[in-house]
Amino acid sequence: MVHTLPEEERELLDVVRAYVAREVAPRAAEAEAEHRFPRERFDELARMDLTGLAFPEDVGGAGLSYRTYLLVLEELARGHATLALAVSVSSLAAYALEAFGTEDQRQSLARPVVEGRHLGAYCLSEPHAGSDAASLSCRAERDGDVYRLTGTKAWVTHGGVADRYVVFARTGGDGPKGISAFAVDPDQPGLEVHAPEQKMGLTGSPTAMLGFDDAPVPADRLIGGEEGIGFGIAMSALDGGRLGISAVATGVGQAALDTALGYAREREQFGRPIVDFQGVSFLLADMATQLEAARTLYKDAASRRDAGYEVSKVCSMAKLFCTDTAMRVTTDAVQVLGGVGYTRDFPVERYLREAKVMQIFEGTNQIQRLVIGRHLQRGT
Ligand SMILES: Cc1cc2nc3c(=O)[nH]c(=O)nc-3n(C[C@H](O)[C@H](O)[C@H](O)COP(=O)(O)OP(=O)(O)OC[C@H]3O[C@@H](n4cnc5c(N)ncnc54)[C@H](O)[C@@H]3O)c2cc1C
Repeated sequence: MVHTLPEEERELLDVVRAYVAREVAPRAAEAEAEHRFPRERFDELARMDLTGLAFPEDVGGAGLSYRTYLLVLEELARGHATLALAVSVSSLAAYALEAFGTEDQRQSLARPVVEGRHLGAYCLSEPHAGSDAASLSCRAERDGDVYRLTGTKAWVTHGGVADRYVVFARTGGDGPKGISAFAVDPDQPGLEVHAPEQKMGLTGSPTAMLGFDDAPVPADRLIGGEEGIGFGIAMSALDGGRLGISAVATGVGQAALDTALGYAREREQFGRPIVDFQGVSFLLADMATQLEAARTLYKDAASRRDAGYEVSKVCSMAKLFCTDTAMRVTTDAVQVLGGVGYTRDFPVERYLREAKVMQIFEGTNQIQRLVIGRHLQRGT
């Protein structure tokens, strides 16, 4: 598929693939075992200009297509899902600031995230507002030249290590129209970061709850300088974010297939490599086919986004299909490896644990079906 890309972008993918094989993949298991966010790898990506590939050049991005960005994400995820997720989540925050911020916010707040000097975080979920994000209750009350934020944001990827938080809070009445978005500093007075969640996978990617207690956020940090546009910003960012997760999930699935195939060629039973048994080769064939379909779907959605079409439905379709595929493929990879697949001697059990959460965050796969169903009802 890569051969359909322009020459320059194909060369970029070759560089990324070589970098991932050399620097990223060999260190992934250790970072996950130590529950350590690999900030030094993220900084390397910034130096390689890989953190803002699809952002406009006037804020420090590379101005490349979303499709190219996703192919790079997939390569990163093949080596280390936590690192690919870091780029994807940081891009969510950057997008909110770049696409909806005032010109001053675009330059002073979006640019450092696009350039990877700042790591971004996107704070929408709350303990009582997950799938029903529009019911969020964190409040932002205007008080002179500040907004006073009070409430709790849950499940913040990069909570405690981010340099820029994009926080959604209620400035008005109930429902989506009462929500606004704010750019919050990590050392914001009144902000407390709770201990990281103890997760089953993506253990190198810190996830934490943020508590705001009457935190005075300067009024010029209201994104877009306008109240009530926050939910639209959150949903628009999630369209792109869901494609990011699609690519990351596909990369994790591909890594699982690569490992399973390599093992099946080497491992002998009954005097033959197990890949010779139809029961194993059919499993591998299904895994490869499903991954190719997943890749095709996210690339097509990205191409439509690049062409300026409304993509909400296809973004949900890609997220649903790619993450369900990653779950199936990683589960089958464990099966191909037999007993050792269930141990930490091989990475496939980690891939399986990583794939699971991708069916949950950025909208569970039930919510993706809900979005797709609504589009079908409306005929859009
Ligand atoms: C590792 C991790 C990282 C995360 N990172 C972030 C982040 O950076 N920023 C952020 O804002 N959030 C983040 N999240 C939160 C994530 O987006 C939510 O967990 C997710 O949206 C689901 O919300 P919930 O956990 O409250 O589940 P709930 O909404 O309580 O859902 C529970 C179950 O009910 C189902 N359900 C709910 N409503 C419906 C419905 N209408 N129809 C059918 N089924 C339904 C769900 O699909 C799910 O199976 C992260 C979560 C995790 C686990």
